[in-house]
This record gives sequence, C-alpha cells and structure tokens, in this order.
Amino acid sequence: VTLAPYEIVLPGVPVASRRGALGWCSVVLLRRPGRTVLFDTGSFGDRRLLLDRLAELGVPTGKIDLVFGSHFHFDHVANAELLDCPLALSAPEWRYAEEGGYVAANDPFVPRALIPFVRERIVTFTDWEEVLPGVRTVLLPGHTPGTCGLLLVDDGVLLASDAVKNAWDFERGEPPPSFFSRERAAPNYRRIRDLASIIVPGHDRAFEIGDDGSPRYLKGSAIDLELYGDPRSPPRQLRLTEETYD
Ligand SMILES: [Zn+2]
Repeated sequence: VTLAPYEIVLPGVPVASRRGALGWCSVVLLRRPGRTVLFDTGSFGDRRLLLDRLAELGVPTGKIDLVFGSHFHFDHVANAELLDCPLALSAPEWRYAEEGGYVAANDPFVPRALIPFVRERIVTFTDWEEVLPGVRTVLLPGHTPGTCGLLLVDDGVLLASDAVKNAWDFERGEPPPSFFSRERAAPNYRRIRDLASIIVPGHDRAFEIGDDGSPRYLKGSAIDLELYGDPRSPPRQLRLTEETYD
C-alpha cells in the first residue's frame, strides 16, 4: 500500500464575512508506517465533519499519534480536545498561550479554556525539527509568535497554515493579520518560495506556484457552499472551482 504524502481531511475555505471569521481552516493528515500525525484540527463547527472524515479515511481519533498545532488559535486547535494524544506546538507559541502574551497582543482568538486542558499533553519544538521522516518544522512567526508550518521536504509541499492564509494574499505579497509582528511576517513569503512549490494555506485550497510565481489551485479542490436566505427558493449554490467562482 502506498500512502499519499499528505491527505486533506478538511479543505481551507477562503470566505470573508462581516459577521466575523468563519475559521474554516485546512486540516491535513500525514500517514507514515507506524505513525499518523494530524496537522491542525479545525474549530467547533467542524467537529461532526472532522470525525466523519477521519472515520472515512480509516483513522479514528484513537489512531492519531500526534496533533501538530500550527498555532494556538481556536480555529486550528479547538478539536485537540477530542484527541487523546500529545499536542505539538512550537516553543514560542506555547509560551504565548501559557504566559498570556496573547492578552498584551490583543489577540482574542486564543482559546484560553483549552490551555489547562492540554497542558499535560504539550510537546514543544523549534525550527527545522523532523517530526516524521522527511517532514520538518518551518517556523513562520508573524501571525502569532510561534506560527509554524510543516515541510514535506522531498515533495516541496508546505503545510503553511496562517503564514499563508489564502492564494489571494500570497499573490499580492500581503502578510496575514499579525498579532505578533507584521515586520517579522514580511520575509516569510520569500522563505516559503525558496522551500516549497506546493502550498496548503491556512484558509484556502492547496495551490502550486506557477513558473510566473503566481498560485494555481490544484485539481479536485472545488468547494460547494449553500447560501440560504430566500424562503421561497432553494439555497443559492456557490461553487469555488479550481479556477474561479461559478
Ligand atoms: Zn490564526
């Protein structure tokens, strides 16, 4: 059996709303012989679908050996609550959560009730550590002090989380919202381009960096959304295709 280098459990969805952040982040599974790592977990609203998708992939929660948290925001780590295994965070990110740096940073997205709950399960790491054979941590601070991606070195695939929120930002060189430092976030895109040719963003579908340097979504990454609002008509369907919107 050949295992895919990475599997999208839940795709990131690039939708903005004036009713706040929807927080639909990318959740990715890394399966290797004898070890399974879940990269990010999604948020509360993802729970049913997350559990169903993991079951469908043949990986019930008990079979996950490690949750890798890209950063300690609700939409990425809230479901670590459902998984009884170690939670890996970069050392600066765990410090940010544990020592309350998020308060001074005016960062309302840290789920503080989760901190004592996961404390005993935290394992920390620094930059360029190997978490699986050929899979290394890439610290990309800015969005938070310890935002961290994972690089599948041989495949040139970077699970970037919110260091690259979406293809739109990446195309424009626009850093993500920075609770830590916009200055520190600025050089991240250069490092990312040097390391990777395929990006799985925090809140968008996976894309390839074309020869012209622009993002192109990978095939099979369409997402369907339904907008309810006219009680007399069926919900409006909105499809985000690989190319554009229908
Ligand atoms: Zn975030």
